[in-house]
Amino acid sequence: MKFSNTYIKLGEQFFQRTLPEKVASPTLLLWNQALANNLLIPKNIQDDHLLLSQYGSGNQLPNGAESIALAYSGHQFGHFNPQLGDGRAHLLGEVLDKDNIRRDIQLKGSGQTGFSRRGDGKCALAPALREYIMSEALFALGVPTSRCLSVVATGEVINRGLAKAGAVVTRVAASHIRVGTFQYFAARGDTASLKILVDYSIKRHFPEIDIDESGNKILLSFEQRVLAFLACAIAKQITLVVEWLRIGFIHGVMNTDNTAICGETLDFGPCAMLGGYDENKVFSSIDEYGRYAFGNQGKIAQWNMARLADCLIPLLIEFSDKNLTKEEQEQQALTKIEALIHQYTDQFDMAYFTMYGKKLGLKDTALNNKSLISDLLALMQTQNLDYTQTFLHLTQSLSDDVKAQDLQSKLGDWYQTWLMILNKEKPEQESHQKNKYQQAQNLMRKNNPVVIPRNHHIEAILESCENVIGNDSSCIKDSKKDVIIATVDEFLCVLRSPYKETEATKKYQEIAGDDDRYYQTFCGT
Ligand code: AMP
Ligand code: MG
Repeated sequence: MKFSNTYIKLGEQFFQRTLPEKVASPTLLLWNQALANNLLIPKNIQDDHLLLSQYGSGNQLPNGAESIALAYSGHQFGHFNPQLGDGRAHLLGEVLDKDNIRRDIQLKGSGQTGFSRRGDGKCALAPALREYIMSEALFALGVPTSRCLSVVATGEVINRGLAKAGAVVTRVAASHIRVGTFQYFAARGDTASLKILVDYSIKRHFPEIDIDESGNKILLSFEQRVLAFLACAIAKQITLVVEWLRIGFIHGVMNTDNTAICGETLDFGPCAMLGGYDENKVFSSIDEYGRYAFGNQGKIAQWNMARLADCLIPLLIEFSDKNLTKEEQEQQALTKIEALIHQYTDQFDMAYFTMYGKKLGLKDTALNNKSLISDLLALMQTQNLDYTQTFLHLTQSLSDDVKAQDLQSKLGDWYQTWLMILNKEKPEQESHQKNKYQQAQNLMRKNNPVVIPRNHHIEAILESCENVIGNDSSCIKDSKKDVIIATVDEFLCVLRSPYKETEATKKYQEIAGDDDRYYQTFCGT
């Protein structure tokens, strides 16, 4: 594993140099071997748990790492905060993974930085484990996401109202460039840095803007490149949010500082999974007005992209046709940018209805089946039907008469209409097969998980891990460590094949007794 840090080369205005705080007695609790292999971490290092606990706590920096905290701003619940930045995270550098993709390696919970404001720079054990489990679940479900390489208990007690054991997560992401990073420079009127950031983001995330498939350079004006960059960032957000909706994920805090340009899921603080279908569902304790409700996530991503667009307007003006007056330059920039933001709606709808089409086994995409999809969601909303189970049962009902009857009684005419549409789409040869909906069912099996990280399961696991460690993690016996690993692994083992039903899967499929009625999640953990 060879560290580099291309981000540092962008200039001192992009970050602060700062070291992780040393911790008393680090213990490696979780190690993501699959991810480590992907990052080409040598076996001798992976086997050295003492060394990994030193690296994973920030007590020791790997060779070539240069620790920095990134500068960014952000709209939090719609209110702009010009000065956020990594208040409890240290970017150690980047490594190329086995597919030659550049990945950020970042510690989170590793102590205060110049951006900490009043925060302690720390992270408690339960949220660290939560981020590890949730990101692995999302990854296995096929959703773009940052991932966790390790969780190390620090041996410290931290204050979260109650005394809690501290931990550090090692986060791996395609990058940590956020909408808020652009906002940071836009708010300061620093168009030179904005240009550097756009160029870097294109090179790192959207090289196809500058280089065609045969490796030849595409000659575009700067204005064209900026617009192409925004279009690519929008496309990534649409894919991301539609994937969240497919599996019933509620991010919970879609602030612009948590919106990664690369389109990966970032920050799992208050996230949760949808149980009974309710487009207004919110679990986050501070999301009073339902800004980040399940069904609002598409609109919010558009709003976030509009905030990215705001940052790009001054750039377009600066590089626009100098023969125009200032007003004309502004007007031209605005028109071009606004067109992209307006197109979002149609692009999102297309992706959204295509996704639900696949969940219903329909290849003939999108807008043709709009009313079929909306009608189903309306029925699910009225009856508060479990999101995951309903789609799973629909899948199974194509070859299971009992499930079919059950759904028929819940969904009435809708069920027959769906079968009729499936029949119309069916290829000729299928009608002779034993299961005449084979192809549709195969498509549904790929798009409808049998198991998701349900809120009550994740909470039970976190609680039992917390109980094992207590709030004194200064000396974790191997036996306790083994219990934590076994508890998390049993759940993860099921979550890692979310489209396959096994004996172990059953244990994690059932709906919460109270259907998560009183479940709440928290930020700032
Ligand atoms: P988050 O809610 O994790 O997205 O964090 C929002 C902002 O608050 C970021 O700038 C974080 O770095 C900062 N922050 C969150 N928790 C802490 C903490 N315990 N100490 C310092 N900064 C924090
Ligand atoms: Mg954040």
